[in-house]
Amino acid sequence: MTDQRFPHRHLLGIQGLGPQEITAILDLADGYVDQNRSIDKRKSLLRGRTLVNLFFENSTRTRTSFELAGKRLGADVINMQTQASSVAKGETLIDTAMTLNAMHLDALVVRHPDSGAVKLLSEKVNCAVINGGDGSHEHPTQALLDALTIRRHKGRLAGLTVAICGDVVHSRVARSNIYLLNTMGAQVRLIGPKTLMPTAVDRMGVDVYHDMRKGLDGVDVVMMLRIQNERMKGNFIPSIREYFHFFGLDREKLAMAKPDAVIMHPGPMNRGVEIDSDVADDVERSLIREQVEMGVAVRMACLDLLTRNIPNQVAV
Ligand code: ASP
Repeated sequence: MTDQRFPHRHLLGIQGLGPQEITAILDLADGYVDQNRSIDKRKSLLRGRTLVNLFFENSTRTRTSFELAGKRLGADVINMQTQASSVAKGETLIDTAMTLNAMHLDALVVRHPDSGAVKLLSEKVNCAVINGGDGSHEHPTQALLDALTIRRHKGRLAGLTVAICGDVVHSRVARSNIYLLNTMGAQVRLIGPKTLMPTAVDRMGVDVYHDMRKGLDGVDVVMMLRIQNERMKGNFIPSIREYFHFFGLDREKLAMAKPDAVIMHPGPMNRGVEIDSDVADDVERSLIREQVEMGVAVRMACLDLLTRNIPNQVAV
């Protein structure tokens, strides 16, 4: 499929993508990993194309890696600081989108604190829109980079057992990973306190554990999540200390997983809250830095595939 067109104009979520489409993105990204490890990292595939990063929420990895991805493919990349834009003067999301649209962009990466905001925006513009994370809804490129990281280490996704641990209810990373891993035939376990589980968890095709040791028993992958304080209204956990005691990943709890189980975290990490430095920095088991590397390659693959659908002549 990598020679063909990607049958979607936008990448708004993993939900709705089939196994072949996911595999095509991962296969293409594998090639970009090699390119990124070579001296000559630049291609001219997107020469003449314009990519705008529009981030209404903070970001380190996603924004930087989309910028690098666009530049390595030869596109012009603009990063919009919403605090320094007219959004800060009260311009609505739609008006901002219409303004950007008038500048003939080819691709727009949007991060927004509200679930559904990126989809709304995608309906108003002509360019390809990529969801860089919308509220607690989806973060598709994170799930894709996680899948690429796992596949390169385990050789497959189907048949693996993946534990996603922590603040699931507020996590777009968890939601996108659940869709992707289910679609690709992996078994998903969610581990966390009841207060941090979505209400519809029984309809998500996952197994739920409130005891971390039991949940980690025999898993192939341990994926930790950050406590999303910025999305919490009220108290969801009694104290950080107690949370770490029951749900923080440390050497002792990790011992329940398979001996070759790998550790992942989308970042930013809160050391001593959801993960102990001892395991986060374990070079034998932790793939956290590699996830960042895979992020650039996956985002290059997404830009490559989505821009194949954009006509060369834009209607005025
Ligand atoms: N960076 C990820 C996100 O934007 C995870 C996190 O912030 O905890 O969703």
